[in-house]
Amino acid sequence: MTENRSAVLESVPEGLFIGGAWRRAQEGRTLSVNDPATGQEIKRIADATPADGMAALDAAVAAGPEWAATPARQRGELLRRAFDLLTERSEEFALLMTLEMGKPLAEARGEVTYGAEFLRWFSEEAPRIQGRYGPNPEGSGRIVVSQHPVGPCFLITPWNFPLAMATRKIAPALAAGCTAVIKPAALTPLTTLAFVALLEEVGLPAGVVNVVTTSTSGEVSEPIIRDPRLRKLSFTGSTPVGRSLLEQAAQGVLRTSMELGGNAPFVVFEDADLDTAVEAAMLAKFRNIGQACTAANRFIVHTAVAEEFTRRVTERVQAMRIGPGTQEGVAIGPLIDDRAVAKAEALVQDAVARGAHLTTGGHPVPGPGTFYEPTVLSGVAHGSDILREEVFGPVLAVVPFEGEEEAVRLANDTEYGLVSYVFTQDLARGQRMIERLETGMLGLNVGVVSNAAAPFGGWKSSGLGREGGAEGIAEYLQTKYTLTPDP
Ligand code: NAD
Repeated sequence: MTENRSAVLESVPEGLFIGGAWRRAQEGRTLSVNDPATGQEIKRIADATPADGMAALDAAVAAGPEWAATPARQRGELLRRAFDLLTERSEEFALLMTLEMGKPLAEARGEVTYGAEFLRWFSEEAPRIQGRYGPNPEGSGRIVVSQHPVGPCFLITPWNFPLAMATRKIAPALAAGCTAVIKPAALTPLTTLAFVALLEEVGLPAGVVNVVTTSTSGEVSEPIIRDPRLRKLSFTGSTPVGRSLLEQAAQGVLRTSMELGGNAPFVVFEDADLDTAVEAAMLAKFRNIGQACTAANRFIVHTAVAEEFTRRVTERVQAMRIGPGTQEGVAIGPLIDDRAVAKAEALVQDAVARGAHLTTGGHPVPGPGTFYEPTVLSGVAHGSDILREEVFGPVLAVVPFEGEEEAVRLANDTEYGLVSYVFTQDLARGQRMIERLETGMLGLNVGVVSNAAAPFGGWKSSGLGREGGAEGIAEYLQTKYTLTPDP
């Protein structure tokens, strides 16, 4: 493991990737990347300045016309080669993600599979970009509708899924014929650097994808977003940052996609199959140590089954092993940093102060590393902070309810609308939930919904636009309608 670890870390480039070349940041600035399981530095890499950011945009703009004119089949084949090579290097990428982000190795392997699927899916979508041709209703002309790449894109990704969030944006952008600048989170930039080196290896032309890693995201991003040559901003991250980027993007009426925060309800009706619900709860809550926008945040459970549900999840949680993600059998790795631990701690304390009962966990784990015990809270009172804010940690909060109306009201009682989970064996009730829940995605008797072939995205403050599915490539295309006379 130690040998693999050094080899994997050494293989990651340290520079910025601009115009097909790896270079140092201006003024030689560097930033440190740490392993959250130990708090130790694992690598130093270039820390871009605003001038580096603009150089990356220049490169994306310069490469734009040629890439847009590259046949779709060729663009797709590049993505397919990237899929094949990433799949072959699955172990290396998984280890790298575990080292910089902390998730258990088995989950990191799962992310490589999921992240690679976007490359395969969009390699197949590239040749299917279509238009239409037909008579206008008056019979006096022909309507021609064609699709065109939107142009240079700026892609901003979060730290929690370092690979999948990058491929979910890069793959559709390239498939559509767009060039890009990508800015990964400063906490987990290594996976993006390694992935772009892989793209270079499979024949990515210079300037088509450029990477800026930086500790000063706001300063580097704003001039790029305000530059009129930029045509698209795709952001995944928190709702407050998304809001401020939308304000910046408004100046240039920039096309935007926003994958923002969530506050997913997980509703268990009295007629649910509890084996299924408990299994799904463990995935929906504890995958990625609770640090997922799709993580179930509020377990809304019918009073008839709340006690049994809580007892069963508590037993499962007590059996979870805490430790570095690289260790075999570990289910709960470290949280990303001290702030994440402090947030989980504050939300648990607030819930307990308002009357919730801790059935297990509820404390930070003494250092090194930034660990928090997997935790179950029952009888969480309405008005508790944990029901309003994403906990982004391994804390399962149970709120009891009495009837279907109340369940729907509680589920929808949030500014977010990314994903919801519902457990019932009553088909008609399931259909009513599809109609009534304010959510971009719904898991009906399942605890994980993400799939490269499906449109991922939220309602309300959870965002704008979709990633994945046929919808995912449309985000990077613009429509042109041409009227021609009756021939
Ligand atoms: P964040 O908003 O702090 O950061 C996201 C990205 O934005 C990072 O690359 C960061 O460096 C950058 N950033 C921060 N401030 C910026 C600024 N002023 N200008 C430009 N860029 C800036 O979010 P995070 O803590 O990295 O990620 C967690 C959040 O992401 C959670 O709210 C989670 O729900 C959300 N998320 C959403 C999805 C989704 O698909 N909807 C997926 C994963 C994570």
